[in-house]
Amino acid sequence: MSGAVWDAGRCWRCEADDVPVIWLGPVQTQEHGAGPFAACEPCIRRLEQLVETHHMQADRSA
Ligand SMILES: [Zn+2]
Repeated sequence: MSGAVWDAGRCWRCEADDVPVIWLGPVQTQEHGAGPFAACEPCIRRLEQLVETHHMQADRSA
């Protein structure tokens, strides 16, 4: 995660407060529009695994 900017805040995945988080991108909701999706280090590690799995499955179906 080189170049990522860590900031103290709330993790939008596990809802831990006042932890180092990285902004991952806008999240789009049905009722309230876009929000800043940020996640803490353990959650980012898990998201990395999910994204990796997603791409592996996409590669297989191609
Ligand atoms: Zn988290």
